Amino acid sequence: MAKRPLMSGNWKMYMNTQSALELVKALKGNCADVEDRDILVFVPFTLLAPVVNELKGSNIWVGAQNMYFEKEGAFTGEISPAHLLDIGVEWVLLGHSERRHVFGETNDLINKKIKSALASNLKPVLCVGELLEERENGKIEEVLKTQTKGGFKDLTKDEAKKVVIAYEPVWAIGTGKTASPEDADEAHKIIRKILEQMYDKEVADNMRILYGGSVKPDNVDGLMAKPNVDGSLVGGASLKADGFTRIVKFQ
Ligand code: PEP
Repeated sequence: MAKRPLMSGNWKMYMNTQSALELVKALKGNCADVEDRDILVFVPFTLLAPVVNELKGSNIWVGAQNMYFEKEGAFTGEISPAHLLDIGVEWVLLGHSERRHVFGETNDLINKKIKSALASNLKPVLCVGELLEERENGKIEEVLKTQTKGGFKDLTKDEAKKVVIAYEPVWAIGTGKTASPEDADEAHKIIRKILEQMYDKEVADNMRILYGGSVKPDNVDGLMAKPNVDGSLVGGASLKADGFTRIVKFQ
């Protein structure tokens, strides 16, 4: 079944108030006519409130790039689901490869965050993906199984249906190397097979699985043409209004 595409941008640790507002104002204008797909930007914590405010009433959703799983407490420096809800954020990116590999986040911690997001009615996007070394050693399926099973651990079928997955091969993130449309489609099929084993065909077939890793205006059309690719998670190329608009408006 064809799913509604979700085109998302991850600003990582870039932008400031002025450049963020310029970008979202331009995107809002450029994408006002977009009706058949969803648009989402994952924004640094300090820019969330102004960006949510600027995008109110538009067709662009706003998400945070991380959060802690506890509601509140003595967790200095962390941001809770309640903080995000308080300023009108509806989405949260969890388990991004930079969180896993730079900050040492484990599948167990990511699973706690997914459960906490769902319990708070935040919509989580769970990132999974293999390292180059793992791909070269034929371990793609094993890695995707560990990360998917880890992220979805103890989630009911109804909860699982509320999650979006982003397949982001780590070797393709920020490197300019994109997985071929065939490689992306194949990995997404593996993830669906894992979900079918964990839940059933309905959950597997209806899961929105985004591809991320050096998505650009000139390669998005080929990726989005694949039957198992339901959207994109775009890093570097989401920082420029024209480029990201072209990605959102893939053909
Ligand atoms: C990302 O940040 O999730 C990402 C895919 O980055 P890039 O598009 O720059 O590779």
